[in-house]
Amino acid sequence: MNRRYRKTVIAGNWKMNMTATETKKFAEELKKIMPRAKWCDTLICVPACNIQTAAKAFKDLRISVGAENVYFEEKGAYTGEISPAMLVDAGVKYVVIGHSERREYFAESDETVNKKVLKAFEYGITPIVCCGESLTQREQGITIDWIRQQIKIAFLNVPADKAAEAVIAYEPIWAIGTGKVATTEQAQEVCGAIRACIAEIYDEATAEAIRIQYGGSVSAGSAPELFAQPDIDGGLVGGASLKPDFGKIVCYNK
Ligand code: PEP
Repeated sequence: MNRRYRKTVIAGNWKMNMTATETKKFAEELKKIMPRAKWCDTLICVPACNIQTAAKAFKDLRISVGAENVYFEEKGAYTGEISPAMLVDAGVKYVVIGHSERREYFAESDETVNKKVLKAFEYGITPIVCCGESLTQREQGITIDWIRQQIKIAFLNVPADKAAEAVIAYEPIWAIGTGKVATTEQAQEVCGAIRACIAEIYDEATAEAIRIQYGGSVSAGSAPELFAQPDIDGGLVGGASLKPDFGKIVCYNK
């Protein structure tokens, strides 16, 4: 596969952290250590109530704002949910869908992930589709089968031209927030298998265009080697995106 055509995409995922006040302070700190990020697509996915503050605070840094979730219905009696139209209106360009924490704590399934992916595309929001295996699944040797199944369901009824614009985040569950990064070989192997799966579902051109991130305890130290792999086009960064050090990850090639 040819990396030349794919722009690196680095995304922060703040989870349930950072108030609006802290968001503004963070942006000021980041400006001190990071130039405008032109060499890669950079975004930070923030809690819904911070989206507008973050969009304003990060504009000068060329950092887009993403959401951490979206609902698959347009509007109505869904207390607590956020619609795609609301996200678009607030300035959201990307949305994380199917993060393992949402699957574990909020009963998200491959089927709801698929509905959300379809809805995000309908509204012009780029989905960051998360997949990943547990430690038990890795030890059982079923990682690739599991990931292929997650991907096949997530992309059901998604046309090739849309799929080509998606971002997939491969996040081994055992590496999220644990400080245990997958080895470069493990990460590349699965990201390569995901690209091959996309080629099977669609075609080579779609597989070459889609961007695949690695996520799981990425740091400024591990980013350069991970992002240099032929099938790893950037990262989804949790803990390390809460500190101005995130700027060093974005400048991984500088
Ligand atoms: C994540 O939240 O998607 C993540 C990868 O977290 P961390 O970088 O903290 O492991």
